[in-house]
Amino acid sequence: MIQSVPGLKKLSLVVPVYFEEECILQFIKETASVLSTLNVEYEIIFIDDGSADNTVELIKKAAETQYSIKLVELSYNHGKQAAVTAGITYATGDYLLYMDPDLQDPPVEIPRFIEEIEKGFDLVFGIRKEKVDGILNKLFSRIFWGVLEKFTGLKIPKGLAVMRIFNRKFANKFLEYPEQNRFIEGIFMHIGMKRTTLLIAQRERFAGKSKFNFKRKMRLAFDAIFDFSEIPLKAAVRLGFLLFLVGFLYLAGIIIAKLFIIDFQLGWPSIMGAIIIASGLQLFFIGIAAIYIGRTYKESKKRPLFSVKELTNISERSQ
Ligand code: UDP
Ligand code: MG
Repeated sequence: MIQSVPGLKKLSLVVPVYFEEECILQFIKETASVLSTLNVEYEIIFIDDGSADNTVELIKKAAETQYSIKLVELSYNHGKQAAVTAGITYATGDYLLYMDPDLQDPPVEIPRFIEEIEKGFDLVFGIRKEKVDGILNKLFSRIFWGVLEKFTGLKIPKGLAVMRIFNRKFANKFLEYPEQNRFIEGIFMHIGMKRTTLLIAQRERFAGKSKFNFKRKMRLAFDAIFDFSEIPLKAAVRLGFLLFLVGFLYLAGIIIAKLFIIDFQLGWPSIMGAIIIASGLQLFFIGIAAIYIGRTYKESKKRPLFSVKELTNISERSQ
């Protein structure tokens, strides 16, 4: 085991991996070559989120000779948010740097992150100079972050990269958040403290495919909105009231017309129309309320956030 040198800061890289066999070795090579030039003690904590390829074997093999490489294997696919939480739980560094193994955010930027946080910040967010992505993905991100800001009021910096560094104080605060539905960027903004941003270059994914297809992205967007916003609930109240008002005026109009202006046959189609619209809206908003109730139920069970299958180069700690 590496002996701690008094006064030397320790850096923990927190890296979630899910079917990343094509990236792992290159990632280890690039990060190790950057980290070895720095005047810090370090550990690389990989959290395997239930990969069924060679990801785990490759990491374990590397960990046999490099003790700074550590692995937390989750029992099954929990999703990136829980994986990152697991990594932060096991990290022991003074600074924690969270990045993906796909090398989209290049490891050569690590020294700049350390330099920046040492200026006295609690959190340094990486911001992409220019997003390397398809047009559709870019459009989706744009809409996602735009809607999110409107709904939640969270002022999340634009062009956020995955790479970010934070200190022990910030990490401990993060671990105090008990929610099951974890939207990490939201939690990070909610923690507040002293934060800043750092412009970094970005590359294409080194190899493999993005795990975030449209469905997953939509799920994340839902998590984000329903966890950090009560606007959907408030919208239900407002729209419900507006509909009541419109219906009331409509009915009053018909009665007045019938009594004083013209005699006409009141048809059932219009009534059907009104019933369908009203019941549709009711169902819609009952559904929204149900989503919140479901989430409250999930939180109320207070289940552990993740389940660990095996630890490599990490001794089990009493949590
Ligand atoms: N990931 C994970 N669990 C999942 C999906 C993804 O731990 O269920 C990891 C994945 O290995 C990668 C990171 O989350 O390290 C981001 O995924 P990806 O690069 O596929 O997404 P993108 O960069 O396209 O948003
Ligand atoms: Mg990526």
